[in-house]
Amino acid sequence: MKLATRLSDVIPSVTLAIAAKAKAMKAEGVDVCSFSAGEPDFDTPDHIKEAAKLALDQGKTKYGPSSGEPKLKEAIAKKLKTDNNLDYKTENIMVTNGGKHSLYNLMMALIETGDEVIIPAPYWLSYPEMVRLAEGTPVIVATTAENDYKITPEQLKQAITPKTKLFVLNSPSNPTGSVYSPAEIKALAEVIVEADIFVVSDEIYEKILYDGAEHLSIAACGPEIFAKTLISNGFAKSYSMTGWRVGYMAGPVPIIKAMTNIQGHATSNVCTFAQYGAIAALESSQDCVATMLQAFTERRKVIIDRIKSMPKVSCSIPSGAFYVFIDISQTGLKSLEFCEKLLESYQVAVIPGIAFGDDNCIRLSYATDLNTINKGMDRLEQFLMSL
Ligand code: GLU
Repeated sequence: MKLATRLSDVIPSVTLAIAAKAKAMKAEGVDVCSFSAGEPDFDTPDHIKEAAKLALDQGKTKYGPSSGEPKLKEAIAKKLKTDNNLDYKTENIMVTNGGKHSLYNLMMALIETGDEVIIPAPYWLSYPEMVRLAEGTPVIVATTAENDYKITPEQLKQAITPKTKLFVLNSPSNPTGSVYSPAEIKALAEVIVEADIFVVSDEIYEKILYDGAEHLSIAACGPEIFAKTLISNGFAKSYSMTGWRVGYMAGPVPIIKAMTNIQGHATSNVCTFAQYGAIAALESSQDCVATMLQAFTERRKVIIDRIKSMPKVSCSIPSGAFYVFIDISQTGLKSLEFCEKLLESYQVAVIPGIAFGDDNCIRLSYATDLNTINKGMDRLEQFLMSL
């Protein structure tokens, strides 16, 4: 069978595959400790579920506008003003099937054959694949643990060519947990404006920050960068709404219009009653976000303390998100083999760094309970001692 050529280089999502494998093993009765997908273990807060149930009862069960329910777009505009100091109108905003879909729509709207998209590595594994699906060229720029896995303005400048269309920024970062400081964000903004390229800022982890780390949206650095920025965000991580599939993108009207055109043909609109849950998430008390953050903070301390005491591995301290990126180069194993052995022999599921562009590392998500973390760390330690 001849499939479309554009798929020939596209790698299936390893995060989803390993998470599904861990879930299937659990269903078979295997005692798996899963640190695989970045999926908070908390249930969605009750007030959000109640709002969606009420929407169902009120008959919000029909098609809606492709770009999203007007009330949700208003709530998003207000959030972007209050939290990020950004002046967007509702026409600058579209609601998408999760943050991931906002990025996919953007690649389809903006990227074509010959366009280069700069992606710092380690990267979230779907970025390069989305660029490939749009028939563009991902340009991967390796960062270093010494620089906390952050691209420098000089590295960005060097990677820009006349073909560069877009730069992908993700802070707090998946998979490293790095957070760019406001000064670092401003320095990158200057390079982007100077080169006259676009930036997509994936801010899905903006609320998950530790040790006083600060999130600055790059779009807030001035009117010139504002005009070149697309902001991707969603409800999955902050409000534990992964399965709801509600995200959004904010940016220049012509791009949002083009993305809406694509979405209109691809998925119509995002599930109507789910959008009413998202409205409640934004308009109600944010205490649930703080409660979950407190739990992540405790888990982060436990997991980092345990890893620091283990042989043959090291990690930098993540300032955001809920991932820890561990250097395994001293074990002599590459990431895929390491993960396969760990899962088969010790029933611990983690993601190989090769999926994120770094074969010397593995990623652990600590969006899981302390019991699993402690048990999983015991097993990881035993595995490392056996090598
Ligand atoms: N973004 C999460 C992760 O990296 C969920 C899985 C996915 O969409 O890749 O684990």
